[in-house]
Amino acid sequence: MADQETGTNPLSADLLVVGGGISGITAALEAAEAGRDVILIEKEPYLGGRVAQMYHYFPKLCPPSCGLEINFRRIKDNRKIRTYTLSEVESVNGKPGEFEVKVKKNPRYVNENCTACGLCEAACRTEIDNPFDFGMSKIKAIHLPHLMAYPMRYVLHKDVVKDQSELEDIAKSCPYDSVVLDDEPKTLTFNVGAVVWATGWKPFDASKIENLNFGKYPHIITNMMMERLSAPNGPTSGRILRPGDQKEVKRIAFVQCAGSRDENYLPYCSGVCCMASLKQTTYIREQYPDSEVFVFFIDARTPGRLEDFYMKIQDDENVHITRGKVAEITEVDGGDMKVKAENTLTGEMTETVVDMVVLATGMVPNTKDSPPPFVKLDEYGFIAPGNEQTGIIGSGVVMRPQEVSVSVQDGTAAALKSIIAAARR
Ligand SMILES: Cc1cc2nc3c(=O)[nH]c(=O)nc-3n(C[C@H](O)[C@H](O)[C@H](O)COP(=O)(O)OP(=O)(O)OC[C@H]3O[C@@H](n4cnc5c(N)ncnc54)[C@H](O)[C@@H]3O)c2cc1C
Repeated sequence: MADQETGTNPLSADLLVVGGGISGITAALEAAEAGRDVILIEKEPYLGGRVAQMYHYFPKLCPPSCGLEINFRRIKDNRKIRTYTLSEVESVNGKPGEFEVKVKKNPRYVNENCTACGLCEAACRTEIDNPFDFGMSKIKAIHLPHLMAYPMRYVLHKDVVKDQSELEDIAKSCPYDSVVLDDEPKTLTFNVGAVVWATGWKPFDASKIENLNFGKYPHIITNMMMERLSAPNGPTSGRILRPGDQKEVKRIAFVQCAGSRDENYLPYCSGVCCMASLKQTTYIREQYPDSEVFVFFIDARTPGRLEDFYMKIQDDENVHITRGKVAEITEVDGGDMKVKAENTLTGEMTETVVDMVVLATGMVPNTKDSPPPFVKLDEYGFIAPGNEQTGIIGSGVVMRPQEVSVSVQDGTAAALKSIIAAARR
């Protein structure tokens, strides 16, 4: 893509969108296509948010790259959107119609000459855990964030490379002089009429759930790890093998409401986890036709038309969707896992031995730890409704847990609300 990350400063625009996930991208595009000038900032080195990490979307089971690519093309073709990756808001001052936003842009150390040829990666010796794969794979300190990354440009984690000669080797390896070792953080100032806040969510930290032993055994993973484990661009190139010993996963258990709807952890329902697990049963069943899947739920929540998907999965005789509150997960011989559950209606206790366990953990809004300015949050850290008059408009999972289609609708609504807010002075 053309380098959209430069320009005279301060810059004026109608709107600034914080967060380049599916909801923020939609808000930026809808506003730009309605003729508004938009600044889109994203803290990661790529756009797409959590959706980029998934293997398939429910309910259609298509790869997220389809939807994302169309949006990236729309961004690329639209001169009214200016995109800044590796960027975060430092401060917001002013009022609707006249905000001044200061943004810190962190260095990528790789400029727009990059062709993603990979020669720098070959010259780099330092490896780090790959955050995109939740640490289930390693990457070089200079890397492409993922195969479908937008912008398609490398990023260097310069601070982890301790040897100056290695840094120089990396820079020298590039035939296009795209590695810029003296790149520095910059503060950019934007004058905008309104701000869309679409910073999305992070997975609930499963290691906090005492009885489920996440982190103790490598064969207990989370639902987001399962997305990466199934994805062709994931740590095992899409083969679902259990971490640790690479055994084929023929018997698998999904533990619903892992930490969710529990006053001790995450008191609310994240709304999508039942559908996410049902979707993930299809990953296993397609890859291993002789596999058996056990889904332990408190009550299954697949509202509206998503119920059809649930019914379809239920028809598979190798999928056992069972009412059961999981009390404990322990290891048995050979590293297999024993899942002990109580049927919440009958009180009956069951024990099921499986190769791997997936914890269906919920979504925590990023606004909980990094709240936007001026707006009120609800008790769980989501942006409360009725904040529009502040000129800071929430969009996507920062408003409530929700699926992609609703996050997209939210983005469209946020574009309109922010255009209205920007017109106010
Ligand atoms: C296991 C699992 C599977 C799922 N599968 C599906 C599915 O198949 N189909 C479906 O419809 N939904 C699914 N969902 C729900 C889906 O992930 C969300 O609906 C979607 O991610 C919401 O998009 P968003 O833009 O609101 O947030 P995000 O995807 O989280 O995007 C937010 C963006 O903001 C950026 N950001 C964060 N903080 C800052 C900051 N301070 N400054 C700048 N940028 C920032 C982030 O890096 C990110 O790029 C699933 C959820 C889970 C938990």
